[in-house]
Order: sequence, then C-alpha cells, then structure tokens
Amino acid sequence: MSATLITGKPIAERIRAQVAEDVAAIGHIGLVTVLVGDDPASDVYIRLKHKAAVAAGIDATDLRLLEETSEAELLAKVEELDADPQVDAILVQLPLPKQIDEAKVIRALAPAKDVDGFHPINAGQLYLGEPTLVPATPRGVMAMLDEHDVELSGARAVVIGRSAIVGKPMAHLLLQRNATVTICHSRTRDLAQHTLAADVLVAAVGVPGMVTPDMVKPGGVVIDVGINRTEDGLVGDVDPGAAEVAGYLTPVPGGVGPMTIACLLENAVRCSRYRRGELAFPL
Ligand code: NDP
Repeated sequence: MSATLITGKPIAERIRAQVAEDVAAIGHIGLVTVLVGDDPASDVYIRLKHKAAVAAGIDATDLRLLEETSEAELLAKVEELDADPQVDAILVQLPLPKQIDEAKVIRALAPAKDVDGFHPINAGQLYLGEPTLVPATPRGVMAMLDEHDVELSGARAVVIGRSAIVGKPMAHLLLQRNATVTICHSRTRDLAQHTLAADVLVAAVGVPGMVTPDMVKPGGVVIDVGINRTEDGLVGDVDPGAAEVAGYLTPVPGGVGPMTIACLLENAVRCSRYRRGELAFPL
C-alpha cells in the first residue's frame, strides 16, 4: 500500500485567496509582528509570515527590537499595540530572549488581538469548546483532515506532543469533533501500543523520524507536524517509510508548514472582526 499524500500548498493557497477577498471587503487589517533579537530561524519565520500577509493585502508591520530589550520595554510596547486602533492583530515571535518571561508577555496581549491564540483566555475558550482564536498549526491540520473528509467522530486519535502551541490545542480540536483522543509525550510508556491503534496520528515532537513504519496502523491517517533541520535538509517526525503502511500521510516539507501561515492570516481576519464588533469576543 502507498499512502495518499496530503499536501498543504493547494489548501493553503485557497485559504490565502479567501483571506485576500476578506481583507478587500473589510478594507484594512493591521497586523504587527514583534521579533526581539536576531535568532535566524525566527527571522525566517517572520519573513515568511510577512510575505504572505502583504500578498493578502494585510497592512503588516515588522517590528524589530534589540536582543537586549528588557521585559518592561517589551511589555510597554505590547500595551501600546493593544491600545492602537489601527492594530487588529499582534504576534510576538517566540522564543524570546532569556531575560523576558514569555508567559508574562503573552498575558499582556489583548486577547482579541492575540493572533497566535496563545493567551490563557483563548486557550481556556478552546478548552471549553467555545469558538475563539486557536493556534494556527492545529487549525491547519484540521483543515487538511477536512479536505480529505477524514471521519473524526468516534475515531481513535493519538497526538504525540503536549505543547501549548501544537499538541494540546490539537487534542482539543480533535475532541471537539468527537474523536477519542489520547495525548502521548516523553513519559508515555510503550508509545507504539498507542500509535498502532490510531485511526488518526498526529506527530508534533521535534525528533526526526521518530514515528517508524511499524508504529503506524495500516490505512491510518498520519499527520507530521515536525520540522527538523538535519544534514539531509528539513525532515519530519515521521519516517517517510510510513507511506507504505498509512492510508494518508502529510509530507515534510510541503505538508503542515504552508497551512500554518495560511491559518495565521485567517486568524488576523478573525481579530479584525472582533475589533470591528462583527464577531463578539467571548469575555
Ligand atoms: P515542543 O518541544 O514544545 O514539544 C514537544 C513535545 O514532544 C513535548 O510534549 C514532549 O514531551 C514530546 N516528546 C519529546 N520527545 C518525545 C518522545 N521521545 N516520545 C514522545 N513524546 C516526546 O515542540 P512543539 O510542539 O513546539 O513542536 C513540535 C514539532 O513541530 C517541532 O518539530 C516543531 O519544529 C514543529 N512545528 C511545526 C510547525 C509547522 O508549521 N509545521 C509549527 C510549530 C511547530 P514532554 O512534554 O514530556 O517534554
């Protein structure tokens, strides 16, 4: 058996075209990204996000602060952006330099401008199953599953990884769709016993090729969120040999990656609807 590849690009392009239409209809959407320091990976991510935002007609500002920026200075900047009526959406690129408490900065964001969906209010609304700003990567995964009409109700879904950015929100979105969800992590015993039962397996770990073909349920849907830089280039958390066992598999690169950026732009549209009162922010 050879798995059907779920590529992200065509779905992402469709989402981005819809965002461009929404931006044109709304008139103006202001997105400010804040990058503190000069981490090369963060610089790449910010550039990609900006390119996509500008292409969709979003008024995107790329704010760069020095590596030595203090926590107080960053908090003051966030408060200024929170109050700025021209700013619909704010993204503070993580990780932040070690002198800054990330949780404090995330809490300082106005929840309705928190385009990444990391604020505790947004995380809490997701936990409660209420519509809210949800992190872009797991939203992108859901769009990929829907594109291929993957049956989620009653399905056994296994998420490897429990980060606040991917694993936990992923598990909640799958639960909202009535999957029976298991969350695995670094302390999970006999990981393969769980993964082998998974109708839908999402790997968000950060360990190259850790999901081997013998861990995959025959015919199952495997979503590889991992992006790992190795000597062989970018690789995922799933051994590509899993394509011989799985029914569906997302490639790396070209799978979940493009979806993340597209769904981030969708979130910016949502932020603008909150600010304009077209959608009621649940507070
Ligand atoms: P984190 O490092 O925050 O979380 C990794 C998770 O994997 C943790 O919950 C950890 O468990 C778990 N884990 C680590 N080792 C094992 C193991 N051997 N067995 C089982 N579980 C394990 O990473 P992120 O969630 O931020 O990212 C995960 C991956 O997804 C990375 O490769 C990242 O680059 C990629 N990513 C891709 C995106 C995209 O757009 N495609 C966007 C965001 C991330 P524990 O909690 O116990 O430590």
